[in-house]
Amino acid sequence: MVAGWASGDAMAAIVTGPDLRYRPLRRERLRYAFAPGIDGTSLTIPLEIICGASDGPHLAVVAGVHGDELEGVRAIQALSTAITCEGLAGTLLLVPIANLPAYTARTRRGALDGVDLNRVFPGRASGSISEQLAHALVHVLFAEMQLVVSLHGLGGYGTLLPWMEFVDVPGPVGQASYAAARAFGFADLMPLPLLPGVLIAALAARSIPAIEGEIGGQGMIDATNWQRYVSGVMGVMRHLGMLAGPTMPALAPRFWDLYWIAAPAGGLFERRVALGEQVASGQTLGIILDPFGDVIGEVVTPCDGVIGAYQTFASVYPGEQIILVWRRSRPRHVNTTS
Ligand SMILES: [Zn+2]
Repeated sequence: MVAGWASGDAMAAIVTGPDLRYRPLRRERLRYAFAPGIDGTSLTIPLEIICGASDGPHLAVVAGVHGDELEGVRAIQALSTAITCEGLAGTLLLVPIANLPAYTARTRRGALDGVDLNRVFPGRASGSISEQLAHALVHVLFAEMQLVVSLHGLGGYGTLLPWMEFVDVPGPVGQASYAAARAFGFADLMPLPLLPGVLIAALAARSIPAIEGEIGGQGMIDATNWQRYVSGVMGVMRHLGMLAGPTMPALAPRFWDLYWIAAPAGGLFERRVALGEQVASGQTLGIILDPFGDVIGEVVTPCDGVIGAYQTFASVYPGEQIILVWRRSRPRHVNTTS
């Protein structure tokens, strides 16, 4: 018997209706059974509830919405170690791996239905496994939260510069999302409209502020990266009054939108720019080579910007999004001067 399996199993009871209510100094690990699997066992979401000595805000931090984005998973494990009930006000809900079917398969999409979980929020109670999972997250786990922080990265075949997305909508939900993004401490911020199927948009539509971070990639857990996620979440918790201590002075924000460029042909992608590099409209960012080494395509940016992400795996399919340019942007609805 593997000792770690036995201890983990013993510590996490399987429940069908998780009780997320505040109780002083409560600390509990659970597995929320959200659907039956086809083998008759339960499909579960592992979670941890940590409550402080006094009641206060309810914050959820979630990672593993995509199964091959792992820096956030490690960050949430580290938060579980770092946060004590005694040092906390309010309730912290940690969901280290939201999408176990994708995590188990080491893929972005759910292995049981091939669906991208972050395209089907708020989900359906009677839908596919990913839709049921989305429904469970939005309607059960996050329904009573004051803020949700979702931690992403690039998948197994790519890497990126850190950025933070917030919902750019009029009113208090947009303002609270923006304030949380600022408190997280990343300088590069992406205002997002209410994109269909995306978690933070589905939450905003239910008046729950939410932010979504991006860091790292390549299936790695680089300590520099996940520790930035840990300190970012702690910055948000100080901002909400859940942890004592002064909030860090926020960096001057830079606003961007995301422009992905697709491979014009399939082949070997030879990249000619690096992360963080400034590029100008019309610039060649790389070339595509056929099996004999002849150039069969040029990857050209149609806009000025900064290289924010790219696929690191050099063989590419035609039409695949292989390189991301950050374009200068401004929020449309959120007031950034207050
Ligand atoms: Zn993701």
